[in-house]
Amino acid sequence: MSPQATPEEIAGIQEEIERIGFRPFINPGVERKVIAVLGELDVRKADLVDHFSTFPGVERVELISELWKLASRKYHPHDTVVQIGDVRIGSETIVIAAGPCSVESEPQLLEVAEAVKKAGAHLLRGGAFKPRTSPYSFQGLGEEGLRILAKAREKTGLPVVTEVMDTHELPMVAKYADVLQIGTRNMQNYPLLKKVGMMGKPVLLKRGLGSKVRDLLMSAEYIISEGNDQVVLCERGITTFEDSTRNTTDINAIPVLKHWTHLPVMLDPSHATGDSRYVPAIALAAIAAGADGLLIEVHNDPPRAKSDGPQSLRPDAFESLMVQMGKVASAIGKTI
Ligand code: PEP
Ligand code: MN
Repeated sequence: MSPQATPEEIAGIQEEIERIGFRPFINPGVERKVIAVLGELDVRKADLVDHFSTFPGVERVELISELWKLASRKYHPHDTVVQIGDVRIGSETIVIAAGPCSVESEPQLLEVAEAVKKAGAHLLRGGAFKPRTSPYSFQGLGEEGLRILAKAREKTGLPVVTEVMDTHELPMVAKYADVLQIGTRNMQNYPLLKKVGMMGKPVLLKRGLGSKVRDLLMSAEYIISEGNDQVVLCERGITTFEDSTRNTTDINAIPVLKHWTHLPVMLDPSHATGDSRYVPAIALAAIAAGADGLLIEVHNDPPRAKSDGPQSLRPDAFESLMVQMGKVASAIGKTI
């Protein structure tokens, strides 16, 4: 819309979009109103550009060539900030989510939560429902794990990030979680993405281990198109022919995503490398590359961890890494 468009002209466009069977999306709160027209494309698409160009208040009508629309910077040029209580992801402050891979017991989680809080983490991570490659591996504590997470939040004040694996468990997980994590194996679980979009809670969407950056954005589009733009993307390493590490960190994905989308981008160096010895280097690289945050596994006793011990930092190593990350952040004009 032109900067001078009146509220009536904007409302008129929205009505017209609905009248012809499409869905209007509008960015609230920005000085320049961009209205997205969403729906299934067919031969009428060229006509639609002409059609809307004639309406009062319209400055320009453009087809967004990417398959993702609402996630695109063309629709939403400014960075989206995802707000979780006082924590803002996508701002000058790099957000650190830290905690164990799995919630194993109350003493274990409370110990790790206190330690990461003391070191300066902003969010507490921990899985209660675990997507394990083998059905014989620890599957998580389920609702008991969620209750323990809520207790740790109460004690530390840290908002909780936890994975939801299934639409059936979504209401339960949403009752306890501050951020709903969609894991790598579920990135293309479209029914789950849609349902999570309807919950209106911040979402941490991890990249599929065999998915392209484009596919990640399409998955984000599923969530946003249900009315929830509080989506944080997370690069967590992809499968390649390289087997010296568990996965291969696609560091390129950070600047590419920052270019293509307004959504904040985090990186998970723990799953990306699978080895606690390499986690600090990749965490620092992610900050230098422009990541808005990091998701880091920390365990009080990694050799005895029920999942992902080899890639989990001990609390003292995490504390040193926080200091290092602060230095890299300040070198690029950010803080932690
Ligand atoms: C996790 O964060 O513990 C996890 C299971 O991650 P991913 O889905 O990336 O493997
Ligand atoms: Mn893990």
